Amino acid sequence: MRIPIIAGNWKMNTNVDEAIRLVESMLDDLEAVPGVERVLCPPFVSLTYVSDLLIETTIGLGAQNMYPAEKGAFTGEISPYMLKGLCQYVILGHSERRQHFGETDEFVNRKVHAALAHGLTPIICIGETLAQNEAGQTEEVVTHQTRAVLADLSGAQVSRIVIAYEPIWAIGTGRPATGEGANQISGLIRDTVAALVGHPPAQALRIQYGGSVTAENAAEFLSQPEIDGALVGGASLKADQFVQIVRLAAQLKGV
Ligand code: PEP
Repeated sequence: MRIPIIAGNWKMNTNVDEAIRLVESMLDDLEAVPGVERVLCPPFVSLTYVSDLLIETTIGLGAQNMYPAEKGAFTGEISPYMLKGLCQYVILGHSERRQHFGETDEFVNRKVHAALAHGLTPIICIGETLAQNEAGQTEEVVTHQTRAVLADLSGAQVSRIVIAYEPIWAIGTGRPATGEGANQISGLIRDTVAALVGHPPAQALRIQYGGSVTAENAAEFLSQPEIDGALVGGASLKADQFVQIVRLAAQLKGV
């Protein structure tokens, strides 16, 4: 039985005051939903403040990125050593980081190793571009990315990971994938993981769908057997939307 996981990626939105207000506006409602892992991923500068608000709650905290080294001359970067103790999760390889900051699968793989070594749960994003989708290359791209970002990990490590299948053409566009299509690709990801490290870790690994998830369409994804949750961008900035998505996860998947 995989525990469903809903994570909110706030991206580069909210200053500290706004982040605090957003958390306060949904904290009690989120806390009241059982059986679902709930994770908030605010910008770095708000992590400490949000962490204080989440003390003594069951709600998790995540960073949106991380550099793979522990410390050193990497001006402006944030390391797993800094995040450890402050948050439990870290989003890695988001398509916006790949697109705007040139992150490769190999670099993401280094980050995954570093996050796990520091006890952080990586939420690893993979997914195809619109051009790749239209060229019928989705399965090839997703299989390649899965193998590359999970390179040299043990089964025990893989079982602690969350993969977010996020077709890039669906992110922030208001044009989500279909539930059936996302389920099929999630199944392919799980099969690829099984071929890498065996069936038990592949069955333990959780796979989220991400890409224009809202309270209105979330049930289509959360009712799919291979999909264990959602990585939510825009809708996670609206308290009522995010709470409703978490409630749907509890109804459709709650353990
Ligand atoms: C995301 O940020 O990962 C995302 C899926 O964004 P949105 O829900 O806005 O499409």
